[in-house]
Amino acid sequence: MESTSKQRPQPLLVLATGNPGKVEELRRLLQDVPIALATATDLGLALPEDEPYATFLENATHKALFVAGQTPHLVLGEDSGLEVDALGGRPGVLSKRYSGPAGNAQANNARLLQDLRGVPWPQRAARFRCVMALAKGGEVLCTANGTCDGLIADQPRGSGGFGYDPLFFLPEQNRTMAELAADEKNRISHRARALENARAFIRQYAWDA
Ligand code: IMP
Repeated sequence: MESTSKQRPQPLLVLATGNPGKVEELRRLLQDVPIALATATDLGLALPEDEPYATFLENATHKALFVAGQTPHLVLGEDSGLEVDALGGRPGVLSKRYSGPAGNAQANNARLLQDLRGVPWPQRAARFRCVMALAKGGEVLCTANGTCDGLIADQPRGSGGFGYDPLFFLPEQNRTMAELAADEKNRISHRARALENARAFIRQYAWDA
């Protein structure tokens, strides 16, 4: 007799993001979890147009619940960004639109360099932060956090990743995040660390579903 696990369709996890860089990373990070992935866009579901809240947690929850209101599947909402100590934690939740509403990564990096002009190396400490919320049926079932510490370089280096990666210098690697291979970034990134904290929940959900 065939085992039932072979016949059972995998449950679906819907990613509430339209950012292709995040989707690619999440796909790799979830490779070993027996769950199928689709983006909200793949399923014709709407994403929220705004990120109205002052915290990553509220924005991640908003994204997850907004999409979960349109589907019976488990939804992963994620909000992330860069916190620079010398800028009092900015751009923070405004990371995507730091240089204006278009959300252009090159312009955001240019503004960051401009804002840090003259700030000496030891004071250029920063961290990426990621908060995830998993929701289903109007309820948030799990939240998770992850951070990754670094320094803001004085010029961009590397072509991998996305967003602020070319300016995010990792002293222990002696490279920027954009100079790491995708698998290297996925071992240390804020998103990887948040997902590590949500992994047990997602595994259990996949098992029970
Ligand atoms: P949001 O979560 O859609 O608001 O966008 C987060 C923004 O933070 C992105 O548009 C990037 O500017 C930045 N960001 C988040 N995660 C990363 C990352 O892994 N590398 C570089 N920039 C990131």
